[in-house]
Amino acid sequence: MEGPIAEVNTSKTDDNWNGAIAFVDRDGVLNYGSPNYINNPEELTIIPGAKESIMSLRNMGYRIAIVTNQSAIMRGLWDEDRIHSIHSKLQEEVGTLDVLMTCPHRTRDKCQCRKPRPGMLNRASEIIRGKSHDKVDWWGSKPEPIHPMDLMIGDRDSDMGAGWAVGARLFQVDEMVGIAGVIDRIIANDEGDEFNPVE
Ligand SMILES: [Zn+2]
Repeated sequence: MEGPIAEVNTSKTDDNWNGAIAFVDRDGVLNYGSPNYINNPEELTIIPGAKESIMSLRNMGYRIAIVTNQSAIMRGLWDEDRIHSIHSKLQEEVGTLDVLMTCPHRTRDKCQCRKPRPGMLNRASEIIRGKSHDKVDWWGSKPEPIHPMDLMIGDRDSDMGAGWAVGARLFQVDEMVGIAGVIDRIIANDEGDEFNPVE
């Protein structure tokens, strides 16, 4: 399986879009994570405040791209249909999301989409606005974002790395608090967290 799995709903979302994308990790940000994966819709438990935070991002004019590593797929634990059923439950709970990108690979598959690589963010940006970054220089300076309001919300350093690689403002959350822990900073137009991908 090459490349990430993409679910695209842009035609179903309302449009006061400002040109910016909020890249949002899933587990530990919208729903509680698990060391054994979220294996079916029944295991998906939304973190309090996630729905309201997604609504706030929409009210600010963002389109929302979920970017999630799910190596259970290439480990053979379950297939692509399962991710779609989990993501329909997710959207029943938090509202329609513009694009949902899933990397099915393990580290050893050496894909371009497993975070911290920015492949899923770039593909989502291509889908939503027809442009993306075409390379990443981890030892260089942080690139300019395609839109100055672009942001990445995640609980792990791999999320921060992927967001850094597309120039996004970075908001790292506690995995038990999720997106609700940073939404006030985002509303206040905070410049985001410092991050060095090679430290
Ligand atoms: Zn991948």
